[in-house]
Amino acid sequence: MSSILIKNIGALATGDLRNPLRHADSIYVEDGIVRAIGKGIDYRADTVVDARGITAIPGLVDSHSHPTFGEFTPAQNALSWITHYMHGGVTALVSAGELHFPGLPLPPEPRIALSLALLTKRCFDNLRPSGVKVYAGTLLLVPGLKEEDFDSIAAAGIRLVKFIFYDYSLLPNGEAERYVQWAKKREIKVKIHSGGVSRSGVSQVAGVEIIGRISPDIVGHITGGPIPMPEEEMKQIVDNTDHYLEICSSGNARLVLSLISAVKRRGAFHRVLVGTDTPGGTGIIPRGMLRQVGFLSSVAGIPPQEAVAMATGNVGRAHGLPIGTLEEGKAADIVLLDKIHGSVAKDALDSFSKGDLPGISVVMIDGKITVPGRSQQTPPPERQARIGEGGR
Ligand SMILES: [Zn+2]
Repeated sequence: MSSILIKNIGALATGDLRNPLRHADSIYVEDGIVRAIGKGIDYRADTVVDARGITAIPGLVDSHSHPTFGEFTPAQNALSWITHYMHGGVTALVSAGELHFPGLPLPPEPRIALSLALLTKRCFDNLRPSGVKVYAGTLLLVPGLKEEDFDSIAAAGIRLVKFIFYDYSLLPNGEAERYVQWAKKREIKVKIHSGGVSRSGVSQVAGVEIIGRISPDIVGHITGGPIPMPEEEMKQIVDNTDHYLEICSSGNARLVLSLISAVKRRGAFHRVLVGTDTPGGTGIIPRGMLRQVGFLSSVAGIPPQEAVAMATGNVGRAHGLPIGTLEEGKAADIVLLDKIHGSVAKDALDSFSKGDLPGISVVMIDGKITVPGRSQQTPPPERQARIGEGGR
């Protein structure tokens, strides 16, 4: 049994929109699981982290990423990107499809799409780059899949399928709707590429009409990835459906503001997810999730702890994954961060409100410290946590 006590936390954001801040200054972790959160917890632990007044948030969960092989991304011929994202506070990535596989025919034929999903899922089951949880093996839906293919992916533990290359002129034959039913029957979530054509050049355009027909769980990058659907159609989806609404760094910032004002009117913050839609043509952005939280808080006027929830707990809930919240009984995926020296902000949450990047001191995944003092990707936080041997 291994244990960690984090003490002297300043603010604690939970990632749960219903209760986004907790009045607590300590977290006790045993065997990778958060066992207690409270004030002045004084259990004996193998490791003690003195947070020195800085902020704790759940590890960020990128709702829309494109892994391929391990930490190599052919999208930019670059290495180590997952480790760099981890230094930007990301502890989990949800794949929106492994479509950067070099030479992959697009759209792939059904057995190639299925093989790619199964292969990628199996590889990432065996591989946790820098501890990061990569939910990969997202099946790209193409015409001609069989119900037994959904059995295969369910048996492999795949939890997400995605419409992007599907030829919507085939919609009248009912196959796409059957795919959605087959997915739902197996508790697999359905995401759709929305808006205009992406870098591949062969993704299919989808707006309110196609989304109305397919009724996915999650409208991928509704504000553009990179090109959004028409603004009026986006607002209709906010007003007339319950779908999750994903905002990605690759998109259109003007529409993010429009989306948030529509969402605010409906009191639907629980439907908003944050991702980067990278690696890709937008690049590799290790601080992308932090920047998007800061944009939502400082420009779109969302309280910072609620913007954090959109990048953590909301993403876990939307994808049916047991991650994203900082609470008892959940995996200890935790980021400790503070304002950066020279920032006018008071602390990390105030940094988000003011639009300043915060600095990361500690990242912990499943109770293992993966960044021990300061991030390699953010400027140093003004106060750095101290990590020491246990005792009292
Ligand atoms: Zn994408």
